[in-house]
Amino acid sequence: MIVSINPATGEELARFEDHAGDAIAQRLALATQAQRTWAQTPLADRLPLLRRVAAQLRADKHTLARTITLEMGKPLAEAVGEVEKCAWNFDFYAEAAPGFLADQVVASSASDSRIVYDPIGLVLAVMPWNYPLWQVMRAAAPVLAGGNGLVLKHASNVPQCALAIEQVFVRAGLPEGLVTTLLVGAAAVPSLIADRRIAAVTFTGSTPAGRSIAAAAGQALKKQVLELGGSDPFIVLADADVQAAATVAVKARFQNTGQSCIAAKRFIVEAPVADRFVEAFCDITRQLVVGDPLAAGSTQGSMARTSLRDELHAQVQASIHEGAKLLLGGGPVAGPGAFYQPTVFDHVTPGMTVAREETFGPAAAILRVRDAAEAVRIANDTPFGLGAALWTADLDRAARLVHAIEAGAVFVNGMVASDPRLPFGGSKESGYGRELGMLGLHEFMNAKTVWTGPVRT
Ligand code: NAP
Repeated sequence: MIVSINPATGEELARFEDHAGDAIAQRLALATQAQRTWAQTPLADRLPLLRRVAAQLRADKHTLARTITLEMGKPLAEAVGEVEKCAWNFDFYAEAAPGFLADQVVASSASDSRIVYDPIGLVLAVMPWNYPLWQVMRAAAPVLAGGNGLVLKHASNVPQCALAIEQVFVRAGLPEGLVTTLLVGAAAVPSLIADRRIAAVTFTGSTPAGRSIAAAAGQALKKQVLELGGSDPFIVLADADVQAAATVAVKARFQNTGQSCIAAKRFIVEAPVADRFVEAFCDITRQLVVGDPLAAGSTQGSMARTSLRDELHAQVQASIHEGAKLLLGGGPVAGPGAFYQPTVFDHVTPGMTVAREETFGPAAAILRVRDAAEAVRIANDTPFGLGAALWTADLDRAARLVHAIEAGAVFVNGMVASDPRLPFGGSKESGYGRELGMLGLHEFMNAKTVWTGPVRT
């Protein structure tokens, strides 16, 4: 049984029978048929349908946003923004796909040699709950643009979002089954990956789950893209605009109630500006309004499950025990729901729990360092390598430092964010492969070499 619970109240919203046996077989058969038809549909005819998905998302944005908020607790305004971003992604690929999928002519000894891009089939998407629409739509738009189909196994705490996503595509007029939701738990994933109708898998979620999926995909010899956890550094050098850095830093940490893979989690600040940064960071954090995510004034909602809140609280308590200086928050908000106080630690050292582990919730760790070299060393002192932010007024120095930072993306004087135009993905234990941009579209295409003779003389 898959149960939808409002984490802000603890109230059960709905429950669904898991898909099993025949239901899975029927859905995969329909998806396979729909993908074959879609793959044979000329690109020029697929693109208007992608635009219709964007239009459908915009038309449904308030209902979709409400479903997101009810199931995982983010403020409604953030949920509306999430749906709008999904629509942008579909418009972007409708515009950019012809260029990304154009044949690439390569000079060789042939009369003509080129790379052509063919779809590979059905892509299984195993997705997390933190951006229940965006995570799926970020994968779906390039997959569909390329002529592939998508089978969605969404996180078990967002089944209503999973079903609503399927409906968006049906209502937009895409072939029935081209995007298919399977309501199944994690235990069903290895057999889905092994199923001959599944060509590849894209996974976004925790690093431990990523290891299991990589093992199953490796066993089945299927292509995989893994977007995993992160503990992103946010480096503030002594010449940075400290006030601007602190303002962005608070957003980068507490947006989505801190439940983002690319949230800044470790604030690494050069000693001469550390006091000023800490003061500004705490002042801005105090202005967050924690409360009912459906209420207009709330800027921080509930965490997505009480178990996640309890895990965060255990990390916070461990860090206090290890000697981190607690400046703000430090515990759950009293009353019903999985609310947690915005929490700030100063004088964190790299071995402490809040610096060593991924904190998936509203808890910030500030580490003070001597100089830029120590900042980069500490930034890299983690198994993760997803994103990083670097704040400095010296752009020449930034251009050198970005190469020393082990991450899939470095944002200079900004906060790490996904953008349909730019590739997105990790290094080290944050995963491999890329989503979004041209690279994201090419991940699930067969880049086929076509050589036509005779040999040129
Ligand atoms: P999670 O526990 O790994 O779950 C994500 C998805 O994987 C869910 O659909 C889950 O299904 C499934 N799953 C869990 N264990 C599995 C296993 N052993 N085999 C196959 N599937 C499995 O992650 P989460 O708690 O939902 O999300 C938080 C994590 O995701 C954080 O670590 C975060 O950093 C990461 N994340 C990364 C990115 C990125 O782009 N790099 C983006 C967002 C989140 P059930 O729900 O049925 O268990």
